[in-house]
Amino acid sequence: MAGMTHIEQHYAKFFTKVGWFYEHRPEGFKITPNFIVEFLCQHSECVPMHAIAVYIDEKAMDLKQAEADLDHLEQAVGTSRYCTPNLAVFGADPSISVWEMPHGAGGGVETASNWCLDLHKNWVVTEPR
Ligand SMILES: [Zn+2]
Repeated sequence: MAGMTHIEQHYAKFFTKVGWFYEHRPEGFKITPNFIVEFLCQHSECVPMHAIAVYIDEKAMDLKQAEADLDHLEQAVGTSRYCTPNLAVFGADPSISVWEMPHGAGGGVETASNWCLDLHKNWVVTEPR
């Protein structure tokens, strides 16, 4: 947890709690994400994991803001949101999160609530002291 901001610590603990793998501030990106996060997908057409590049905007208090952030981020980074790891914006808590990715035979807009159980409870119990 060294070198992490308070909200990064909170997200790191949350990702661990829900069984997601993370790397903090990975190198090699035009704009360094807060995290690369990987999580298992059991769909036969998916590789075992999905990977997203998480950019945290603590000030994003609703999905509309997160979606606007994702549009700006895609332009700033200059690569498509459909490239893996998929660009993702996470807001003040993980219920405010948005990305797009292929999944199964299709894909589309995703949010963390689609991928982890008890999201609110797991967020509350991982609050750093
Ligand atoms: Zn999938």
